[in-house]
Amino acid sequence: MIPQQTDIVVVGGGPAGSTFALHAAQSGLDVIILEKDRDIGVPVRCGEAVSDAGLRIFHEPDSRWIRSTIDRMRMIAPDETIIEFPLKEIGYILDRRIFDLDLARFAAEAGARVFTKTYVHGLLFRDDFVTGVRGLYLNEPFEVQAKLVIGADGVESRVGRWAGIRTQLKLKDIESGLQKTVSGIDVSSNIFDFYLSTHWAPGGYLWVFPKGKHMANIGLAINGTEAKKGRSARSFLEAFIADKYPQGSVLSTVAGGVPVARTVVPMVTDGLMLVGDAAHTVNPLTGGGIISGMRSGLLAAETASKILIANENPTRDRLNSYSKAWASVGGKNHERLYRLKESIYRFKDDELNAIAHRLSAVPESDLSLFKIFSTALRAKPSLLIDVARLFTGI
Ligand SMILES: Cc1cc2nc3c(=O)[nH]c(=O)nc-3n(C[C@H](O)[C@H](O)[C@H](O)COP(=O)(O)OP(=O)(O)OC[C@H]3O[C@@H](n4cnc5c(N)ncnc54)[C@H](O)[C@@H]3O)c2cc1C
Repeated sequence: MIPQQTDIVVVGGGPAGSTFALHAAQSGLDVIILEKDRDIGVPVRCGEAVSDAGLRIFHEPDSRWIRSTIDRMRMIAPDETIIEFPLKEIGYILDRRIFDLDLARFAAEAGARVFTKTYVHGLLFRDDFVTGVRGLYLNEPFEVQAKLVIGADGVESRVGRWAGIRTQLKLKDIESGLQKTVSGIDVSSNIFDFYLSTHWAPGGYLWVFPKGKHMANIGLAINGTEAKKGRSARSFLEAFIADKYPQGSVLSTVAGGVPVARTVVPMVTDGLMLVGDAAHTVNPLTGGGIISGMRSGLLAAETASKILIANENPTRDRLNSYSKAWASVGGKNHERLYRLKESIYRFKDDELNAIAHRLSAVPESDLSLFKIFSTALRAKPSLLIDVARLFTGI
């Protein structure tokens, strides 16, 4: 049974919610996670790519989570010119069904209680202060009073909105992500492929992330403004797979929004904090949100634990230390990446081809993401102005 009272209710059992719950439970607080789906980690709406360095902030990588280890990258220009180079830091394609389940298990082992098939459909308030949640547990109504509520309910977060935080996204700040897991194909198990072209993914990018040698997550993210123009993400992705991997079998298809936006302001209100996609912590340039979501979960747990263990009221002012911690750890970089995204997505196909041609003359040992970026800057001097603005804040 769901308890009627607890210290903290976490709405959502994704990486951000479970990371919050682990650290809050470790500091001795009573924490419950409420997850609407039947199984933690399913469905997987994700390319499942993370960097080794990012993962290690939280956990020693476990071989059960890893489907492929990536040490090379290929950027493919609109005219199919391929720029291939080794990565400075390795990355992984995870199996998020196992990874997310383990993150929730770690939280449970630290003392948090996890309830699945539990749908939260509203908040409880006392004089505008959030004091708990209500919902359906195995289709039965429940209410739980809590000192603090954590909105970890993903990109479509309603928890934030119920509390009066503006979490709505502008069309240009949301990407439509669609991905198919395709098997029976031949892929290099150690290489990320990124296609940048209006032909395959207008205003976005398309990825092929290998899961072993014969299976891959093939997906694309197209900008909301493009998605509105008519042709759907699905038709772009199906055209790509039919062209490049016609022999493949599609084992699963997932769709989801990716918030490529500024972080929500404020990230907190009286009695409530937002973490992960609910707070728009996704890296706006790459669309990667696993590690940044976990990071926000950790920072929120540090602030929440200090306040609740000192028996203080979790007012908006006190909780705001979390927003400040986020701004100093990831926030400044987040803002820069957001502004860079706006510039990079303005490249036209012929400009991308010209950059790829320049880079194809560079020996592989000299290639890196930095080299690609500096070549892009030379190819489009107007981008220099954007970058100068970005770093000087003008
Ligand atoms: C197509 C696609 C590809 C992506 N690829 C990558 C990638 O390769 N690498 C990467 O780092 N990121 C990727 N992302 C982003 C990444 O998936 C998210 O940033 C990450 O899952 C965010 O974690 P989270 O815990 O904030 O939210 P989520 O993982 O979305 O978890 C939120 C949880 O809350 C639950 N929930 C929602 N509402 C309620 C409710 N009312 N009551 C109870 N439970 C509720 C949901 O069921 C869900 O389990 C991708 C996203 C998409 C859509």
